[in-house]
Amino acid sequence: MTPSVTVRAAAKVNLHLGVGRLRADGYHPLATVYQTLSVHDDVTVSTSARWNVDLVCEDDIDRASFPTGEDNIVVRAGRLLAAQHGVDRAAEITVRKSIPIAGGLAGGSADAAAALVALDRLWDLQTSDEDLLRLAGQLGSDVPFALVGGTAVGLGRGEIVTRMQDEATRWWVVVPSMVGLSTPAVYHHFDELSPDAPAKVAVPEELVAALADPDNRVLASVLRNDLEPAAIDLRPELGELIEVGERAGALRGIISGSGPTCLFLCSDRGAADRVRTTLLDAGHPRVIIALGPVSGTHVVEYN
Ligand code: ATP
Repeated sequence: MTPSVTVRAAAKVNLHLGVGRLRADGYHPLATVYQTLSVHDDVTVSTSARWNVDLVCEDDIDRASFPTGEDNIVVRAGRLLAAQHGVDRAAEITVRKSIPIAGGLAGGSADAAAALVALDRLWDLQTSDEDLLRLAGQLGSDVPFALVGGTAVGLGRGEIVTRMQDEATRWWVVVPSMVGLSTPAVYHHFDELSPDAPAKVAVPEELVAALADPDNRVLASVLRNDLEPAAIDLRPELGELIEVGERAGALRGIISGSGPTCLFLCSDRGAADRVRTTLLDAGHPRVIIALGPVSGTHVVEYN
């Protein structure tokens, strides 16, 4: 049997996404609080002479926007890891995808984190956690958080990650959109809408306090995403969806990251079920109940 390793990595929601003014280096300063959700991709790697990427998914995932060659972030992760150790390796990679593509749930980042860990084990490279985090930061600003998981603050471009205490169970209803939204397009529209955005951003104290409170109503009252006005301006139906979910009993509806996935924080399982039923009846084909936070990237199978 060809040796293989399967690693799981979770989707994320931004409980807070504070975005500052565009910097000279082309990045926006971010102050964000991430939380992993129980929606995940599994990445399986096995030894191969050439890079190859396969996708396994349900019909509601947009296959066409999943690159199967060198452009896939899992190959970039593998090449970066091999270069770090000065070895010439390749792998066959299968991504079992449940995280919508281009949905604002950082699915590609989750896959990259999973590929780093899986290939490190497959090739027995014993990369230190510190090096894995550094390589993750080079792959994308959300990749270090995907490694760490749980609930965490992200600073800089989002890649400087510090874990936070969050013992409570958060009930989310996740509503992917069938059509993705381009992250650069949303940031560009943010620049147009917010010329006076501050140069520096910080995570508000109220959010830190809310995370210490198991009552989801408290957390709901402080959720914030600075990209939301831009995303809703580009896709007005997202604003309508948020209204429908909140009328159905969600404590709060928000757009995750640059969207278009909408998330609804609910008081408990019963409320989440009711919101889900309403949104399914309203014609949304995929509505998922998810718990947060869950653990970061971890091995689930080793052959
Ligand atoms: P973020 O929240 O970090 O902006 P996202 O969830 O909006 O991310 P992703 O699903 O990570 O978006 O994908 C963004 C783009 O990256 C896609 O349009 C796709 O073409 C490309 N991509 C490369 N590799 C992958 C991958 N393994 N999974 C998904 N998309 C990938």
